[in-house]
Amino acid sequence: MWRTVLRGISANLVQGKRNMSQSCLAGKVAIVTASTDGIGLAAAVALGRRGAHVVVSSRRQANVDRAVATLQGQDIKVTGTTCNVGKSEDREKLVQMTLDQCGGIDILVSNAAVNPFFGNIMDSTEAVWDKILDVNVKSAFLMTKLVVPHIEKRGGGSVVFVSSVAGYQPMPALGPYSVSKTALLGLTRALAPELAQSNIRVNCVAPGVIKTQFSSMLWKNEDVAEEFMKQTCIKRVGEPEEIGGVIAFLCSKDASYITGETITVTGGMNCRL
Ligand code: NAP
Repeated sequence: MWRTVLRGISANLVQGKRNMSQSCLAGKVAIVTASTDGIGLAAAVALGRRGAHVVVSSRRQANVDRAVATLQGQDIKVTGTTCNVGKSEDREKLVQMTLDQCGGIDILVSNAAVNPFFGNIMDSTEAVWDKILDVNVKSAFLMTKLVVPHIEKRGGGSVVFVSSVAGYQPMPALGPYSVSKTALLGLTRALAPELAQSNIRVNCVAPGVIKTQFSSMLWKNEDVAEEFMKQTCIKRVGEPEEIGGVIAFLCSKDASYITGETITVTGGMNCRL
């Protein structure tokens, strides 16, 4: 009987080790854009805890310094720099600095987005559309284009875009932003077959309402928050870590047969077949 129990325990240990190695990102280098706060920072932590060297960035140096200190405090290998993803010279600097300091690139998490407009979509201007499409969509593609030759040199890797549940069902007063998030679902599908040839998987995460500064208008106001809660199965706002873990999963070997997909992480909002 003891022999059977011991055999069970040792099988579990082997399985546990296997699971750990499947999700292990030791030796990998991950660029996460807009990663000094919220979902980007949580993704950097999740990737770093799995062993990746993470490269964090955002527009403000003070935010970069704070994020680097936070990650170092958790024994995560980290490099930081400023990067406004809407600027081509910043994108190039981010990639070059990563190559110089980390020796290569395996993972890109394209997380940056802006929303300068609330209101009826018919009142949105050309300037609003230019800003939203430049930062939320074009920069996601242009970052991908910059990193792909370097990921290819490593024999493959992973790209993850951060979309939104608004990409499936436009949110009231957030028309242009929602459309930009729908475009990321399309970008994921368009890139996946082409980059599969280079052993690069392309996936996307569509969060629901997550407790960050960006979405504070949606969860700080009790009436608005209650309206959103009615649409969810899990009656609370999500935490950034609940998105970070899914992003890290998509970048890991556990997800080695997943590409071209978008995972909605919404507490069951608008769940669909
Ligand atoms: P957040 O907590 O407010 O953090 C935003 C981050 O982006 C900060 O680090 C900010 O730092 C940086 N940033 C802003 N503009 C940037 C730019 N042009 N270039 C580079 N970095 C920039 O926001 P979040 O809620 O985590 O949002 C992250 C992503 O999740 C976005 O794509 C958003 O659309 C998506 N999302 C969020 C929710 C939600 O409920 N929170 C839901 C669905 C989707 P600096 O100010 O220093 O630049």
